[in-house]
Amino acid sequence: MNLKIGIDNYKPGWEIILKQIGVSFSQFSLSNNISPEEYSVIIITEPHTFEENKIIEKFLNAGGAVLYSDNAVVNNVFYKFKKVQFLCSKQNTSFSQIGLVDIYSTIKIPNSKDIITIDSGLSISSIEHGVNLILPFNINEFILNSNSRRKKFFAYRKELPSEIVSEVSKGKLRKIVELSLEYLHHKRDLPFVHLWHQPYIDKNLFIFRLDTDFCSKKDADEMYEICKKNDISATWFLDTESEDKLNNYATLGNQEMAIHCDKHYLYDNFDDNYNNILKADEKLKQWGISATGFAAPFGDWNCSLDNALQKMELTYSSEFALDYDDLPFYPYCNNHFSKVMQIPIHPISLGRLRRSHFNENEMLQYYIDLIKRMVKIGEPVIIYHHPHHKHFDIFDKIFQYVNSNNFSNMNMREFSKWWEERYKLKPEFQYFDDKLSIKYDSKNVFIKISTKKGYIISLKGDIQMDKIKFNQHPELVHKNDLKRIRKFHWRDILYDHESRRSKKAFK
Ligand SMILES: [Zn+2]
Repeated sequence: MNLKIGIDNYKPGWEIILKQIGVSFSQFSLSNNISPEEYSVIIITEPHTFEENKIIEKFLNAGGAVLYSDNAVVNNVFYKFKKVQFLCSKQNTSFSQIGLVDIYSTIKIPNSKDIITIDSGLSISSIEHGVNLILPFNINEFILNSNSRRKKFFAYRKELPSEIVSEVSKGKLRKIVELSLEYLHHKRDLPFVHLWHQPYIDKNLFIFRLDTDFCSKKDADEMYEICKKNDISATWFLDTESEDKLNNYATLGNQEMAIHCDKHYLYDNFDDNYNNILKADEKLKQWGISATGFAAPFGDWNCSLDNALQKMELTYSSEFALDYDDLPFYPYCNNHFSKVMQIPIHPISLGRLRRSHFNENEMLQYYIDLIKRMVKIGEPVIIYHHPHHKHFDIFDKIFQYVNSNNFSNMNMREFSKWWEERYKLKPEFQYFDDKLSIKYDSKNVFIKISTKKGYIISLKGDIQMDKIKFNQHPELVHKNDLKRIRKFHWRDILYDHESRRSKKAFK
């Protein structure tokens, strides 16, 4: 049978998530019966006619699995709508590891006597009829939302760091969909198979980014020495306004040079953004630097920036106001997908930790905790720094930690190229007689197979499932005191004021 996800309507937000997860998927039609052999799970995002609902019910009765979300209406179920800022998963559910998800929108909670709660914190439920889950989110809308706001991030101390980032926790929503699909496959006693998120089978990816605004030659050289000593190829986003230092960057070996800006400002129109990037690019070309990547000042993002990046034929960019702590994707604006890949990073820089009065030990600990968490969930670690904030010792220690803990390093250009290859794949997974047959056209991309017993990261090919020695699923629990990170603090206003003031200064 096919291990394939069917979706009733190709919506861009869903396409982004399903490509990130790396499942095999296609749109199906409800004009004919659908067989559970053809699709392992179907996703319903729209209300359907009486006849179409009968077909969905038949699919469920025949042993199929359904994920209801967005505007789906389950037969005989009433919904109540509720405005929420965030949700927080409960302990000991299939979704415990999610923790806190920022929503800042309306969710849709099913209300009927047949509803079974799966995670009351996240309002995820199921209906007493076949294998199914009901998500309360409008995934498509939430993923396409490009609002940003100041948010605090968790740390094991009282005063928390904050940054202006994407309003919606898009990475968490993607993970909820991934866990939902895994849950539904396991309920059907099927393996859940998807392309792996990282370029290695048994290693974690580490990426380091630098923004060079206000950076002196001395700071740049010291940062470079630390990178060189630890064999880290970083991506340097260059501020080209201070031209006298560009010759220096051109000489740094085994490092990627990319564009930050000429004027340190993100404009709200195409022309100003384009001219600013063009000017930076022309200056870099004089020193033989041809950049393929970009990171906007302040991590800001808008559609006019995206258009400018497309016209510049840059291949990737990285802005945490659009998304953070997530996997790469192609943004969607003005009714089409961008050609410029977005690479989300962890948005809290050492400068933000310093502003929240972290001492050096606490700064190092913050990043070590983050790295450990990313290893547990099997996702790349991408952090950034401004060399002008110094604290080179801390990065020396982080690099040493990474090098002695089974990490491999790529710069952002290398990662974007690998992700592009992964993105183009249309994998096919067949499962028959406990044998898994996996087809796609790449030797550089791996797969994750998850069953109730455990998981493995593997190469493509034919796999006899009873011969596999599975790794145990990691025990992932979230902290109990997560909600405190969304409690208002007077410093939030102060930091917002500071950020407005510093943006004005650049304009
Ligand atoms: Zn900057």
